[in-house]
Amino acid sequence: MTTRPQKFLNVISSLGSLATDANARDGWPGTFHIQLSNQKLYIALHVSSISPHSRAAYELRFQNPAGENRIVSNEGGAALPILLGIDDTQATPIFVATEGSTRVGRPTRFSILFHQRIIDEARRNGWATYTSSTGEKVCAFVPMLLPSFIEQIIQNEEVSSIDIAEAAVASGVMDMQTDINYQEWAGFRATRAINVLARKAGAGKRIRRAYGEQCAMCGLGAGIIQGAHIFPVEAPGSNDEIWNGLSLCYNHHKAFDLHLIGVIPDTNEIILHPSLRAEAQQNQGTANFVNSTWRWLGIPVDVRHRPSAQMFTARYDYFSDLYSWMS
Ligand SMILES: [Zn+2]
Repeated sequence: MTTRPQKFLNVISSLGSLATDANARDGWPGTFHIQLSNQKLYIALHVSSISPHSRAAYELRFQNPAGENRIVSNEGGAALPILLGIDDTQATPIFVATEGSTRVGRPTRFSILFHQRIIDEARRNGWATYTSSTGEKVCAFVPMLLPSFIEQIIQNEEVSSIDIAEAAVASGVMDMQTDINYQEWAGFRATRAINVLARKAGAGKRIRRAYGEQCAMCGLGAGIIQGAHIFPVEAPGSNDEIWNGLSLCYNHHKAFDLHLIGVIPDTNEIILHPSLRAEAQQNQGTANFVNSTWRWLGIPVDVRHRPSAQMFTARYDYFSDLYSWMS
């Protein structure tokens, strides 16, 4: 049977150089620094095994150490507490984890319950989540997505499981290469992707709210709108301020992303690409879209939230030739 410090060290070694300054102690918790997309973070990692739970066949759990009165610790507020169970029944281990802040200082026995399916999903897709009946969120993932898991906690935004699974594949985390340098690089790429997705999700929510949950180009509401960055999130120096955003319906968002629609800085006049106007002559659907588009942006009542002319200018400079049609 693997001892708890050894389990901690297994977690650390699976992270390669993304984990530094590891101190196993007795594994409850062990501490280390983890490399995130743009910072290192101090982690108090509480490791445990995963075991069946008798209540239902599909239910699994991990628990704090029995009979030792061992509290969950955040190292006096210096570390982020993570509770982590390890499924090592197959060649690729799967981590099951939850954020431990709500349990800090509590020595009482607890079980973190989750459905067996998230282990299988994580093995197939890299990532899966489970929300318990008490609202506790439990995530299952391949080891190199541990930094991505922590990145989401720090950003305080939930990224959809589908988006994370896509990021896992795109980053190379699912290639299952044995080369640790390759794995480290893939893990870091995944963390950066999750950082961008979490920022988009958080900014999107704030932007939509500022615009009264309506499209700034046509007024559509109905819960089918998104927050869009003006100076794009992937560009160096971009920010998540509401004045660098627009609330847009899916069609206007896509048209904006494809540079088929632009806004004149200062006047907020909406300009359509000539190809859209041409297609509208032939296609009634496109004509409806063109006709539904306002002449000027609908902007937030709060002046601090209104879209910045500078951000539009920065966007047009960043994509340069893609906006030559506007001049
Ligand atoms: Zn719209």
